[in-house]
Amino acid sequence: MLRFSAWTDVGRVRAGNQDAYCLHLLDGTSRRALLAVADGMGGHSGGEVASTLAARRLEEAVLRAAPGWSTPGACLEGLRAAVLEAHAAIKQAQAAMPAHADMGTTLTAVLVWGELLYVAHSGDSRAYLVSGGRIRRLTDDHSVVAELVRSGHLTEEEARGHPQRHFLTSALGVHGPVRVDLLEASWQPGDVVLLCSDGLTNAVADDEIARHAADTSDFAAVARRLVDLANQRGGHDNITVVAAWWER
Ligand code: MG
Repeated sequence: MLRFSAWTDVGRVRAGNQDAYCLHLLDGTSRRALLAVADGMGGHSGGEVASTLAARRLEEAVLRAAPGWSTPGACLEGLRAAVLEAHAAIKQAQAAMPAHADMGTTLTAVLVWGELLYVAHSGDSRAYLVSGGRIRRLTDDHSVVAELVRSGHLTEEEARGHPQRHFLTSALGVHGPVRVDLLEASWQPGDVVLLCSDGLTNAVADDEIARHAADTSDFAAVARRLVDLANQRGGHDNITVVAAWWER
């Protein structure tokens, strides 16, 4: 049985919320679901248009195609195709709306498929797996600062406060080929999969996220509690959290 938790908030500084998410149960068995987080960027509220469009197109594409996915390869390729469909929709909207020509968005999607998780990802939103109190990042941030952390030039702590942390190396709607990372993970009863925008991860460390996610006594409130914590620390950006718990 899957339990869910989701919350999004504008934060304490920004004028609008350019994050979007989706959370959709895919069948009647409660074993399959689609979770996604998108963090938009662009002037004239283009970020809001891009992230909402990405979340909705991804959802539509997965709902349409998922009944035909019978192998892990089909799930991964289908998820990638859904992300690319969202990317194409944003490019089309850019052409139709010159004021939004610069819009783009991150997109991190997790398809829960029984005991497997399929992940498709572009940008610096994240997916985590919390298992037995331990937290593991399923995604790599596509950002200049994350490259510097991976090459050992910056610590995680330095990266969180870095002025250039918003420079992305991949996102939907941007110029050039979009990079979509695909991966598969397994999970088990008691585990939590959690997706979030950088408004959470720039304010809350991984071990704190793990602690909150592992407290499943009121699971529906987990996302809200994490968003509140980021707001207590300034709420410098929009904050979004979507999580699923495989209840024992
Ligand atoms: Mg953000």
